[in-house]
Amino acid sequence: MKSKSSNIFSFKCSCCGELHEGSPSFAFPAPTYVNQLPESEKDNIIESGEDLFKVKDGDNIHHFIRACLEVPILGCDEPFIWGIWVSLSAQNFNRYVTGWDDVDESDSYFGWFSSKLPYYDDTLSLKAQVRPRKNGIRPYLEIEQDGHELANDLNTYISIEKAQRIAEFCMHPK
Ligand SMILES: [Zn+2]
Repeated sequence: MKSKSSNIFSFKCSCCGELHEGSPSFAFPAPTYVNQLPESEKDNIIESGEDLFKVKDGDNIHHFIRACLEVPILGCDEPFIWGIWVSLSAQNFNRYVTGWDDVDESDSYFGWFSSKLPYYDDTLSLKAQVRPRKNGIRPYLEIEQDGHELANDLNTYISIEKAQRIAEFCMHPK
């Protein structure tokens, strides 16, 4: 057994000088598409919440769900967690929602990454797989696109120094 306390992420912030403790976690309350809707189109949002969004767009409906992107940090027990949004097809969205009470963890749903992360080059529309989890835990995300820095980080790990750089970037936007 490793002792837990020795592997907790903490760093003295070069921006504010404070000690930030615990693995970084940043979440977006809504998909980027929703944030960018002009005021006049806000009533196209037909469903909204912490885990789901449905937005009318002409004859189409965009379906978004919240998921966790968990990037491992080398030498830390807890990953760097992004609370992000993915758009699913209507069919997959309904399958996901109706499967909530009886989650099949071997299942996965194709989706398009729908959050614009700071620090990384454009993350919108990366191809992803949503992997549902039991016990009310938000699904986690796999990114299909090789070659994108975020996909590489997710599939390997980031260093503590990089985690610190990204966290400072998020906590103290210039
Ligand atoms: Zn700081």
